[in-house]
Amino acid sequence: MSICYLDGSYRPTEKCALPVTDLAIARGVGVFDSLRGFDGKPFAMEEHMRRLEESALRIGIAVGDTVDRIRQVITDGLKRRDCPGGGTCLVKSFITGGDTNDLGMFPNPRHFVIFCRVELPADEKYRNGIALMPTSESRHCPTVKSINYLTGIMQCAGQADVWECLYCPGGEILETLASSFFAHIGGTIFTAPLGTVLGGVTRSFIIDLARTYGYKVTEQAPRLSDLPDADEAFITGTVKDVLPVVRVGDTVIGNGKPGPVSARLLRLFREYRDRRLKAVDKKQEEGLLPPSS
Ligand SMILES: *Cc1c(COP(=O)(O)O)cnc(C)c1O
Repeated sequence: MSICYLDGSYRPTEKCALPVTDLAIARGVGVFDSLRGFDGKPFAMEEHMRRLEESALRIGIAVGDTVDRIRQVITDGLKRRDCPGGGTCLVKSFITGGDTNDLGMFPNPRHFVIFCRVELPADEKYRNGIALMPTSESRHCPTVKSINYLTGIMQCAGQADVWECLYCPGGEILETLASSFFAHIGGTIFTAPLGTVLGGVTRSFIIDLARTYGYKVTEQAPRLSDLPDADEAFITGTVKDVLPVVRVGDTVIGNGKPGPVSARLLRLFREYRDRRLKAVDKKQEEGLLPPSS
């Protein structure tokens, strides 16, 4: 079962509803952010809350103290007895346009937060890798985590063997429907620069970890025409960590099997996350950090 915070209380998600007048419904005005809780503790809360606030401000939503409130809702919600997975769950925070469109500004937003089970990709996907479908489309407002995923969803509708579409306007590889993209080519890891893609929270951890462990990382978009020379590719995101990519359209990546770089970065990332969750524990005990930092 999943729970949702809306209008001052936590309830079963199916008991929560938005008024039909909310501009999220008629105009697609809304942003969101997903983070994960582990045993009641949020991972990378500040990074996610910063991005949520930036997304909202960029589309003209007057956030005020909404993000501070959401932070408290998450901290409290993860500790509730009815929190799914005993606080090991996915937390999806939404800010919608509300009912008022004032010359393209949204002065009275609504917010709600859903706590639900995490559905990680099946083990088989990590063992065998996934396929992506390139498209020449691009994401509208790439630095905003908008609720509108229609452009990308339509690109691979009905294709059961494809994980997600891959945005490649003019042959430049940016990101997928909902993940950051990386390619390992000639000893360097390439990923598209910020500004052209969403600032993925996992993306930035992976770049830092890769550099720390001796990989060369260049924030420059790889091109579709470079992929035949790639020995590995992978995508990253909150609900997949690091997932190997073995095919893009008709192009097989490397030998068609997941490689050692993505496997190592997956392990390094999970170890880093565990260390950081433990460090937060320790600092709280020492009274150095407020509970949500
Ligand atoms: C959510 C999302 C990501 C991944 O971001 P994380 O913070 O790593 O979960 C990447 N690209 C797009 C378009 C997204 O919507």
